[in-house]
Amino acid sequence: MLKDLAADRQAQGDTRRRNLGALLRRVHLGGPASRVELADRMGVNRSTVLALTSELAAAGLVREVPATASGRAGRPSFVVRPESDTVYVLAFDIAVDRLVAARVALGGTVSARLEATRPRAGVDLDSVVSVLAGFGRELHRDAPPGAVCVGIGASYCGMIRPGDGMVRFGPDLGWVDQAFGAELARRLDLGLPVLVGNEAHLGAMAEHQRGAGVGAQNLIYLHGDVGVGGGIIVGGDLLDGDGGYGSEVGHMLVNPYQGRPCGCGSRGCLEAEVGERALLDEAGRPADHRGRDAVRAVVAAAEQGDAAAQAALRHIGDWLGIGVANLINLFNPGVVIFGGTLCEVFPGAATQVRSRIAANVLPVSRDKARLAVSALGYDATLIGAAELGFSPLLTDPLGIPALAPPRR
Ligand SMILES: [Zn+2]
Repeated sequence: MLKDLAADRQAQGDTRRRNLGALLRRVHLGGPASRVELADRMGVNRSTVLALTSELAAAGLVREVPATASGRAGRPSFVVRPESDTVYVLAFDIAVDRLVAARVALGGTVSARLEATRPRAGVDLDSVVSVLAGFGRELHRDAPPGAVCVGIGASYCGMIRPGDGMVRFGPDLGWVDQAFGAELARRLDLGLPVLVGNEAHLGAMAEHQRGAGVGAQNLIYLHGDVGVGGGIIVGGDLLDGDGGYGSEVGHMLVNPYQGRPCGCGSRGCLEAEVGERALLDEAGRPADHRGRDAVRAVVAAAEQGDAAAQAALRHIGDWLGIGVANLINLFNPGVVIFGGTLCEVFPGAATQVRSRIAANVLPVSRDKARLAVSALGYDATLIGAAELGFSPLLTDPLGIPALAPPRR
C-alpha cells in the first residue's frame, strides 16, 4: 500500500514535470500564448495551465502580460510569455572556418554574439577553447543584471560522443578524442556542463523547431561546408544511431569507381562529389581558393552567366540529386533542407537535383518530398546549439540549480 502511494506520488511528479516542460517549450518555441491557447494545444484543462503558469512564473521563467490591444471591449486578455530578458543560454558554433559565441534568450532570440575567423589547419584544442571561453565569459559578464545562464550548448563540425562532448573525430583539424566539452566547461567555470552536438544534427533540429522544417515530422537536413554533414529526423526525433554518430550522409557512397577521393580515406562519397573542393575544381578555380567566399564567388559568377561556373553547379547538382534521391527512397521525408554553403549552391543546382529525383525516386515518395533552403541560414547550427543548451531546462524546468526557484 505504501509502495503504491509512493509510486503514485512519483507518477504525479513526473506528469507535473512533463507538463511544466511542455508549457515552457510551447512559449519558448511558439512565442507568447494565452492560457486558453495553451490548454488547447497541450490537451489539458485551464486550471492545470493556471497552476503550471504560476509555478513557472514563481521560478522566474515566464510572465503573464496583457496581450497587445485587440480593439475589443471587455476584460483585457493576458498572454504567457517567456522571461527573455533574464533567462539565457550560451551557444557556441565551432565551424570549419569560424568560431561563434552567442547569448541566446529564452524564446530563442540571439541577444549578443561574438565571432572570430578560425584557421583551417594547425589549431589545437587549447587555442580553440581559449577563444571560446573568452567570448563566453564576456557574454556572461555583459548579460543584464539579474539574468541567469541556464545552460550551455556547442555545435562542432565533427563526430561527437553525446554523453561528455568528446570530439571523437574532427576531420578538418585531425582532432581525435579531444575532451572539448569538458575543457570548455572547465574554462568557462559557470558550474554548468557544456552539451556538444554534431553541427548537422543540431542544424536539423534547429530547422525542425524554428526553420524550414517546422511542422514536418520527417525531414532531412544537408549541411555543406568543406564536406557535407547530415541530420535525419524521423517521427520528430533525430536519428543518431547507436553511438550518436549516425546520419553521416556525406559518406554515402555514390560514385565508387571513378569517384573523387574523400577526406575519410574512401572514394566517391557524396561529400567528395558535391563538397567545396569538387565545386571549385569543376569551376576551374585554383587549389588555394577555398571557403565560403570562394563558393559564393562561383555562385555569383554563374548568376552573371559564366559558363564554367554554371556547368560546375550543374555537375554538383547531378551528384547531389543522386544522394538526395537515395535519401528520399530510404526515409520518405516531408522536406529536404539544404543548409550551410548548400544554401547558396542549391538554387543553381536545383534543376539537376529535381531531375534526378524525378528519374530515381519511387513516385509515392517523390510526390511528398519538398525541397527547401535553410530558413536559418548559417545560424542554423548556432541556434541548434542554443536549443541543446536549453534542453535540460525544457525537460525539467524547476530542476536547474542556477534558478533556485522559490518554493511555496
Ligand atoms: Zn567519405
